[in-house]
This record gives sequence, C-alpha cells and structure tokens, in this order.
Amino acid sequence: MHQKTRVRFAPSPTGPLHIGGVRTALYNYLYAKQQGGDFILRIEDTDTTRFVPGAEAYIQETFNWLGLSFDESPAKGGTYGPYRQSERRDIYKGYVKQLLDSGAAYIAFDTPEELEAKRSEIANFQYDASTREKMRNSLTLSDGETQSLIDGGSQYVVRIRIDPDRDIIVNDMIRGEVVINSTVLDDKVIYKSSDELPTYHLANVVDDHLMEITHVIRGEEWLPSAPLHVWLYRSLGWEESMPRFAHLPLLLKPEGNGKLSKRDGDRLGFPVFPLEWKDPVTGDLSSGYRESGYLPEAIINFLAFLGWNPGTEKEIFTLDELVQAFSFDRCSKSGAKFDVEKAKWYNHHYILNKPDSELAALFAPILREKGVNAPMEKVTKVVGLVKERVHFVKELWEQSSFFFVAPVSYDEKTTRKRWKAETPGQMRALMQLLREMDDFSPENQETTVMEWIQQNQYHTGNIMNAFRLAVVGEGKGPHMFNITDVIGKEETLRRLEQAVTTLPVREDNN
Ligand code: GLU
Repeated sequence: MHQKTRVRFAPSPTGPLHIGGVRTALYNYLYAKQQGGDFILRIEDTDTTRFVPGAEAYIQETFNWLGLSFDESPAKGGTYGPYRQSERRDIYKGYVKQLLDSGAAYIAFDTPEELEAKRSEIANFQYDASTREKMRNSLTLSDGETQSLIDGGSQYVVRIRIDPDRDIIVNDMIRGEVVINSTVLDDKVIYKSSDELPTYHLANVVDDHLMEITHVIRGEEWLPSAPLHVWLYRSLGWEESMPRFAHLPLLLKPEGNGKLSKRDGDRLGFPVFPLEWKDPVTGDLSSGYRESGYLPEAIINFLAFLGWNPGTEKEIFTLDELVQAFSFDRCSKSGAKFDVEKAKWYNHHYILNKPDSELAALFAPILREKGVNAPMEKVTKVVGLVKERVHFVKELWEQSSFFFVAPVSYDEKTTRKRWKAETPGQMRALMQLLREMDDFSPENQETTVMEWIQQNQYHTGNIMNAFRLAVVGEGKGPHMFNITDVIGKEETLRRLEQAVTTLPVREDNN
C-alpha cells in the first residue's frame, strides 16, 4: 500500500519565528497538500534553557494569519500526540534504554572541567572512537563503577557510539545522495540526566519515527545533523522506515553574501519576522510583516519563490496553484537572496487584485484613527481610484486624505505656478458652471467643462491645475472629475470658494 505522506514543521520555541522558518513551513505545507498528506506542527521544547514564553503562541498565530492550517498540532491534537516534546519525556527514556542495552550508546561522566582539560591537551579534540577510551565513561569503567556513580547521584550524559570509517548516506530530494564518512562525526550527547531530557537529535528522530513522518523538509542549517540522524535511525533499527530528507537553501542577505540575519533587517529597514514581537525580557519590539502592512497572500507568494521556481515566467500563484506546481526538482541548492523589494511588488499586486470592498474594510480602521467617519460606499469608491498608487494599505491615506478632508493649506510651489491674477475670476466662472450642472457624473462634468474652456479660449492646463489645487490642496491625485464625483457638487463648490477667498493672488507670476 502506498504510504500516506506526513510532514512536520518542528520549531523550537526559543523566540519569534524567523521568516526563513515560515518558508520551511510553507514548503512542508505545499508538499503535504500536493500529496494529499498531513501537515503537522511539533514543538521541540527539550532545551529548557532556551525556552521563551509566548513563542509557541506566536508560531500558532503566524500560521493562522497566513491561513496555513495544521492537520495535527498541540492546539488541535491528533492521534500521534502529544505534540510538545516536553510532554513526551517518558517516551524518549525507553529509547535511551534501548540504545544503551544494545551497546549503540554509552554513559559518560566527564565534567565540563574534564572536557575542557582534554580540549587543551588534544588539538581538535572531539569525543569519538579515537578519544572515548581516554574518557570517564561506561566503556572505560567497570559496570559496577558505572552503577555506583549513578547510584551516588553523579550527573551523566548518554552519548551515541559512532563507529568510525562507515559510509553514511543521506538521501536528499534537493541535493541527491550525500555520502559522509562516520569518522568525522562525534559521539553526540543524546540524553542528559540533569534535566532527564533527550537532546534535540534523539527527540527529533524518535518523534519523526513515531509520528510516521515520511519527509523531513527543513533548513540547510540542519544538513550537518542529518548523518547523525541517519545513524540514530540505524541504531534504533528503523532504517527501513527512515524518512526522506530535503534541506532547503539558505536565505541570503539582500547583497547575496552570507545568511540573512535580524541585523540585516534592522540595517535595511525590513522585518525578518512574520508578526511583530515584543521580547518578554527586554521589552524590545521587532517589526513584523503583518504589522508592516503585508497581505498574507503576498508573503506566501514571495516566500514560495525563495528557493523554488516554476520554470516558467509565471510569478503570481495562489496558494492552491503553488500546491499544484511545487516540486523539489525545481528547488535550488544554492542560497536565495532575500529581496524585500520583491515582497513589496507582490503586495502591490495583491492589493490591486483585491476587491475594492475588501480593501475598504482594511482601510476603515486607519480612517477611524484619522477621525474620519465616511460611509463604506464612499471608502470603496475612493480605494478603487487610488489603489494603483500604493504598496500598502496604510499608504492609502496619503493618497486619498483629500477625499475625506478639505485642504487646510495649499502647496506653495503649485500655488506659485498655477494661481495667477486671472485665476480667481476663472474659478468663479467655473463654480457657476458646476452649480448649474444637473448631471454631475464625471462624464458630463468633463464634456461640459472642456467645452467651456474651449469657448473661452482658456488654457486647459491652467484651469485644470488651479481647479485641482483648490480641491486637493496640491497637484496630485486621480482624474479630477472622479474626485469631484466622489466628494459631490456641494463640497466641490465649497472648496473652490475657500480657495478663491483665501489664496493670495500674485500679480507677478506669469
Ligand atoms: N527544532 C528544530 C528547529 O528548531 C527542528 C529541525 C528539524 O526540522 O529537524 O528548527
């Protein structure tokens, strides 16, 4: 029978999730859904010293925001739970015992001081087949000595015993077969008596096996751990059901040299976290994509392209289209440059394609904050007129405030250029024309005003720019008659009146 695809996203709750972690989760999701499989969230919280309160809730909220839902998770539960490693302590203990009993692992009592001493004594010291004979462990001590040390309360660790000179094959869907000689590996600690917890490596492998994970898709920084994980699978007798690996390319600095870090974000002014994060200890605030005004669709599309491409020119993909198109064959081995301009480009695209009514709903809280109380019908119309000019919802205000509040001052440069001695008279005539207009539709305004300009042999640019200055306060905005259509005849006339009575007339500005 074909095995059901099961993948997991396995973050450690040590702080806010990095945007690279979100990319990892996304690729897991895409692959799982494409294969009709399950997407699981497992919290790897065995390193109690690095645990940060709030980090797990942050992770959950991130995926709620992005609309990537887990089939099994700590919050949702599932038949393979618990999904927090801190709640699985007893499970790991059994496997530690199995490894010790079979001789695949051993107990070591070396204190940090003893290890330090060895490091200064032996160049490039590593705890392995070449050195373990010289250390204080269950291989060099008698069974009786070992037992009495444990009984006497000595702290110890359990180390995996790596036999030298064996080929370890990591079968990676992106990198192909990676062969590593076991001699380079050290006897990693897999369990600590001090907190009675396994280390990341053992817990990770045990859970992947017990949760029947078929594909381990994770960041490239975990590639060096993969041979050890393969070794652990082998030592536990699970080689047959070992998952396949995919180590995703690094996210690189915008300049392309080196790994993307939080400092790059601070330096170049973009977030490296999906959501805003307040450090529970220092109170420091780090910006997030959500709070910076990015739409989830834009972030998903942007992240999908950091390490994968469809092999065509197509750049815009819905989540469902990504699920269809994704493949490891088209994932790159080399790092992906993080270009936030591209994220902005995607955001602009998704704003343009969002229905005006949805955008208006996103804009409404900003309007409220500005003290504007406008009917949604008007907001919707305004948004439709200015959205092509913005990358973010919050920029809508700058582009449209004049629809909601009359100018209180007038741009000086435009005034100097456009408000001439004859302008007030012309504007009064224009007011008369508009006042008498029964059909105030943009089309009718346009034909009537243009005819009037022609009949009087006015200069179109001079009239229209003065008109705009009076209504908008400066020389910007969408098509003039769309603005007057939205604000209405009364308001248009009121603004013209205000400009005519308050703007100084300069005699010398021809
Ligand atoms: N807990 C590891 C992390 O924080 C998991 C790595 C893996 O996916 O195996 O990324």
